[in-house]
Amino acid sequence: MLLNDKSAVVTGSTSGIGLGIARALAKAGCNIMLNGFGDKSSIERECSQIAKDFGVKAAFHPADISKPDEIGKMIEATTNEFGQVDILVNNAGIQFTAPIEKFPTDQWDAVIAINLSSNFHSIRAALPGMRKRNWGRIINIASVHGVVASPEKAAYVAAKHGVIGLTKVVALETATSRITCNAICPGWVLTPLVEKQIKDRSAREKIPVDQAKLELLSEKQPSLEFATPEQIGAMTVFLCSDDAAQIRGATIEMDGAWTAR
Ligand code: NAD
Repeated sequence: MLLNDKSAVVTGSTSGIGLGIARALAKAGCNIMLNGFGDKSSIERECSQIAKDFGVKAAFHPADISKPDEIGKMIEATTNEFGQVDILVNNAGIQFTAPIEKFPTDQWDAVIAINLSSNFHSIRAALPGMRKRNWGRIINIASVHGVVASPEKAAYVAAKHGVIGLTKVVALETATSRITCNAICPGWVLTPLVEKQIKDRSAREKIPVDQAKLELLSEKQPSLEFATPEQIGAMTVFLCSDDAAQIRGATIEMDGAWTAR
């Protein structure tokens, strides 16, 4: 198995893309530290399911990644549990939409803390261990909104552009080591984060949910298909392989040609 001596932390892996990534890494043989919010018993079930399906160790850390000290504790707990953090996937993220004049300042702070600053804190905490072993993979789940903008997403777009900048800095600082840092930039992926935007649109425009879904895709994503958590998981596994050793500081769009226009 590609990653059977490795351990990974995947932030925000109780749902959506993060869970897809966690399962793909586990399938490749990697021990997994899940993180995120959610119902305790369903998280426990998910951990046992991953362990059973893939024969790896799976544990959970409840760090609220808007809090730097909790991120530090999560990296420490993973090191204690599995011996090391070889792979760090910064995935947790939230969305809030409003025109900038009406954008609540507490929502700005929350989006920047969760979608951007958490990446800085987790990389800062995990990198020393990777340097000691001279191997590591840091994968930041940015977004097409790290490359282009949309209205009413000031905090999200600013945070995701920041993630791409941070990715490039880390790639340069680790360039002569066996540690790489890259960003994956998904377009629309059908997860709870996007389902909420579809529901809001359907209510706002008084149209059926299926029509709202199609309108959302037609507006931005020329393929008219959602990317899937499984596809993003597979790309993450590839970035962890030796074949990807010289992919450094890259932004990999998985966006149905959104950013090709
Ligand atoms: P999601 O809402 O399904 O999952 C978000 C995860 O983050 C959950 O596990 C949640 O518990 C966790 N989380 C939220 N706040 C947290 C906090 N303070 N501390 C710890 N965990 C926290 O969302 P998703 O669509 O799977 O998004 C995952 C990532 O992908 C995000 O960074 C998002 O910006 C990015 N992304 C999503 C899409 C999309 O279309 N869904 C597109 C591009 C990028």
